[in-house]
Amino acid sequence: MATYDVIIIGGGPGGYVCAIRCAQLGLKTACVEGRGALGGTCLNVGCIPSKALLHATHQLHEAEHNFAKMGLKGKAPSVDWKQMLAYKDEVIEGNTKGIEFLFKKNKIDWLQGWGSIPEAGKVKVGDEVHEAKNIIIATGSEPASLPGVEVDEKTVVTSTGALELAKTPKKLVIIGAGVIGLELGSVYSRLGAEVTVIEFLDFITPGMDGEVQKSFQRILKKQGMEFIMGAAVQKTEIARGKAKVTYKLRKDDSEHEIDADTVLVATGRKPYTEGLGLEALGVEMLPRGQIKVGADWQTNVPGIYAIGDVIPGPMLAHKAEDEGMAVAEQIAGKHGHVNYAVIPGVIYTNPEVANVGKTEEQLKEEGRAYKVGKFPFMGNGRAKATFSTEGFVKILADKDTDRVLGAHIIGPSAGELIHEICVAMEFGAAAEDIALTCHAHPTYSEAVREAALACGDGPIHI
Ligand code: FAD
Repeated sequence: MATYDVIIIGGGPGGYVCAIRCAQLGLKTACVEGRGALGGTCLNVGCIPSKALLHATHQLHEAEHNFAKMGLKGKAPSVDWKQMLAYKDEVIEGNTKGIEFLFKKNKIDWLQGWGSIPEAGKVKVGDEVHEAKNIIIATGSEPASLPGVEVDEKTVVTSTGALELAKTPKKLVIIGAGVIGLELGSVYSRLGAEVTVIEFLDFITPGMDGEVQKSFQRILKKQGMEFIMGAAVQKTEIARGKAKVTYKLRKDDSEHEIDADTVLVATGRKPYTEGLGLEALGVEMLPRGQIKVGADWQTNVPGIYAIGDVIPGPMLAHKAEDEGMAVAEQIAGKHGHVNYAVIPGVIYTNPEVANVGKTEEQLKEEGRAYKVGKFPFMGNGRAKATFSTEGFVKILADKDTDRVLGAHIIGPSAGELIHEICVAMEFGAAAEDIALTCHAHPTYSEAVREAALACGDGPIHI
């Protein structure tokens, strides 16, 4: 039996980052992971593989649609799906092995296997029981299920199955118009699939700024994606390798069917706590299956903490990582902190969509006086040169103080541009601070400055 200062259960972005920070702060640390590779959902079946496929298919799209316009003639590349999957797997391996290297470098023990907590201060992995002054649960999440929909990961798949289909489907039906569904929908749409998205609500990407939701849906439709909105899926049936989806339209209760080669169930994710033994320990849970924690990420059982997808908040890798670092610092006697008001969200479609802070709908609900500064990429020189003029930057600022309250970007490299706003918000900046900052020309970032100018005396290039 080994004794540790900290044992972390789960080697995803929350767990592995927490382990590294703990070790850096001089704590004897181990991380339990049963998957056979470090990196969790994110590196193995989430962020990284999906971005690899988005990157590859974006290149294909550029070759098919934009190369000839720039005088780059010749046949567009054909798709070798097996090779594309091999490239994706190589990217995964490069990343997961990188975490293994960081564990060795920081002298973190990887306890391979599935962990449970037989009692406070003890973690069991296989037949071995280890002692730990602090235990951190970072066991992440799993795809949520839908009544009447049975997943076989071949014809009816979750995001995990969608990242390794035997062949690309001709007809793909996606249940759920959230981030994961739309990203993977983009991948297969670019590979030539007819993609139909069935969504229960009347709008896509719940929680996002309404104007961005509408604009994003319009762009996706233009790219060929079809949407069936306000529809409740009743069931899926599989026959001879094909699927049939039955749904009811909420407006008139009428029932309809749609056929597909593949159905992707992308109706969200739920916290994963199976086998940990939390009930016996008396760890307090929330109604939606998340672990309840205090401001220091400690559960009601002293010495047991939880971070990442398994606790409330946006289910995002960087949120889990920030919590991982902060809880390590708390345990080491420092002042770990996460600013939940400034956590960016990004959708890696083309164009990208990114947001941080308040939406216009939230500000209205709060009754806060605000102003909107907006600038379209149509007025941005760099965007014109790269065929990426669709979309805009929208900055929301306090009407009286000019303080930046949120930003919503749809356009080229939105996922990178958003961080300028994040830094501004962390520093409590006014829109004018961004507007007065010299931005290099020609960059997409100039559109951010122009939106900030639009909060004041007005933008220049529109
Ligand atoms: P996880 O990454 O889920 O890791 C938990 C780990 O714990 C797993 O490896 C699991 O095997 C292990 N585990 C569980 N129970 C035990 C146990 N008892 N013993 C030992 N090990 C255990 N987020 C983003 O920010 N950006 C993106 O672009 C993005 N894209 C995504 C795309 C897809 C298709 C999916 C599915 C998710 C995506 N996410 C993205 C979400 C992101 O993956 C999660 O928010 C993130 O992985 C959560 O990190 P975590 O450390 O809390 O948990």
